[in-house]
Amino acid sequence: MLKDRSSDTIAAIATAMSSSGIGIIRVSGDQAVSIVSRIFAGKKANFDLNTAPSHRIYYGMIHDGDEMLDEVLVMLMRGPHSYTAEDTVEIDCHGGVLVMKKILETVIKYGARPAEPGEFTKRAFLNGRIDLSQAEAVIDVINAQNDYAVKSSVSQLKGSVSKKVKDLRKRILYQIAFIESALDDPEHISLDGYEAELSGKLDDMTGEMERLVRSADSGRVVSEGIRTVILGKPNAGKSSLMNVLLGEERAIVTDIAGTTRDTLEEHIRMHGISLNIIDTAGIRETDDVVEQIGVNRAKVAADEADLIIYVVDGSRELDENDAQIMDLIRDRKAVVLLNKTDLETVISEELLQEKTGKTVISISAKEETGIDKLEKTIQNLFYEGSIDFNDEVLITNVRHKTALQNALNSLYMVKQSIENQMPEDFLTIDLMDAYEQLGTIIGEAVEDDLVNEIFGKFCMGK
Ligand code: GDP
Repeated sequence: MLKDRSSDTIAAIATAMSSSGIGIIRVSGDQAVSIVSRIFAGKKANFDLNTAPSHRIYYGMIHDGDEMLDEVLVMLMRGPHSYTAEDTVEIDCHGGVLVMKKILETVIKYGARPAEPGEFTKRAFLNGRIDLSQAEAVIDVINAQNDYAVKSSVSQLKGSVSKKVKDLRKRILYQIAFIESALDDPEHISLDGYEAELSGKLDDMTGEMERLVRSADSGRVVSEGIRTVILGKPNAGKSSLMNVLLGEERAIVTDIAGTTRDTLEEHIRMHGISLNIIDTAGIRETDDVVEQIGVNRAKVAADEADLIIYVVDGSRELDENDAQIMDLIRDRKAVVLLNKTDLETVISEELLQEKTGKTVISISAKEETGIDKLEKTIQNLFYEGSIDFNDEVLITNVRHKTALQNALNSLYMVKQSIENQMPEDFLTIDLMDAYEQLGTIIGEAVEDDLVNEIFGKFCMGK
């Protein structure tokens, strides 16, 4: 039989495994305090971590017997007020790879075992300190590519998604419980006129859930980056712009073969936002998206994009190529860049603005001017006013979106059953489905709540 490992005391290096200013070794579990107490010598000779007050920081040395390993700060957090809800000790040491490993090895030698990936967070979940959506948010915060992704993940971590989901579940559960109780006890609880009431409540709930599902589009933009296509006639400066965007410290470049599409993406991180430039092969190799790969292909790329950046060569007159691109971007989110403004320009910002109806920014890819303004404009286009991280719950997780959509479909079925005058116990099946689907978002078991709700609330005095 497999040994139950959930009560082991676990340890891991919690900071990056590279040399840095400080490193943290995290130890969690029943034995955390006693293990560290045996390898930590506090400043005072008679200091004992086992009896020291919790939620304090202690200065001292980590040693393995006579061998001194490092000068450290030890953070003592007794459960349940810790990340895992277990007794936790964090050893804040100097951030050399060797010293961190050595301390970890010592902690293991004295009785801890190495933690598995995500095990601290898993314990936080299993111990009921956070729910599933919050656990997922922890991962998102760590992986966040830009400021907005951090904000939305932190909001999810604080429970914005859970709160919303719990509220919806409660309202659904109430209806289930009401129907079940009435069916059990028709003498005291009447279902007369109930369906009209339920119908109204369903409309409220589906409205809110539809909004949540819709938010997943902005959510995707936030967590994954803005899918961007750069268009412009040959020699307008598309590659030069790419290079500027990718260049210097503002850029982090990764080549990821498109997961769903057969295109190459390049990932650009600016201060607050992430752009995934799609179809860069088209830009870089053929030199001319519109002419060589054809308007159709450019149109497909543009259709898939959240944002089109249209580069205009300011030193040449507009031509047929430009006209085609302007046509393409008409109803799309797009920014127009008037490039080569370091040269004598024959086109004005006003003219382009008039012809495209989009924001026009003068830049020089060569001199690298105007790029900050581009960044600001994109930020405004996607985030300003549209996402309020304080109030609005943003769905950034595909799993959550799918569960919400499934729950929504079940509620539509309930609505339909009401219209078709199906018997009440029929309604509870789909209501229950919706309830369970929503439950998968936060990872909550179903039966216990239902039992408590039904018997605790409705069957008074019985
Ligand atoms: P693409 O065909 O749209 O990718 O255009 P490129 O980026 O290859 O640029 C075409 C030519 O224009 C190159 O010789 C660039 O050096 C030049 N170029 C691009 N941007 C600028 C600019 O802002 N100012 C000037 N003077 N030349 C530029």
